[in-house]
Amino acid sequence: MGIYTCRKCGEKYESNRLTDGFCDKCAAEYLDKYHQVREYLWNHPGVTASVIAKECGCNVTQVMQWVKEDRFMVSNDSRVRLYCEICGAPIVSGRYCAACQAEADRRAKNEAANAKIREHMEQRHGTSLKQGRSDGEMRFLNNK
Ligand SMILES: [Zn+2]
Ligand SMILES: [Zn+2]
Repeated sequence: MGIYTCRKCGEKYESNRLTDGFCDKCAAEYLDKYHQVREYLWNHPGVTASVIAKECGCNVTQVMQWVKEDRFMVSNDSRVRLYCEICGAPIVSGRYCAACQAEADRRAKNEAANAKIREHMEQRHGTSLKQGRSDGEMRFLNNK
């Protein structure tokens, strides 16, 4: 438990948890604002940061802060967009486009399955693989 000064409204508040430096009221507002911006961006893909700031009642600095935190991306003409983190396709929400999301899911599943298969192979065929190699060496020696 400690006393902190809210970096937004400057009020002292008590907290026993780590916060972003906001009192509970401002922290809730901050999150609300973020969701509002995100939703606005969803409905208006490609708007500029200043439009978002104006429409959502926050400032551009805040929007750019979220951009910096990789929550959105800004293209060269300073339009804010969400992009797939894998292929860079414009998306409306989340981190990946539908195709990459499906691919990522599939790959994660495959990887888990492959790791299991590899483990089995090594346990089961480890000796026979070695055997095969020494057979080959022997044949090689005999031929010589
Ligand atoms: Zn506050
Ligand atoms: Zn993608």
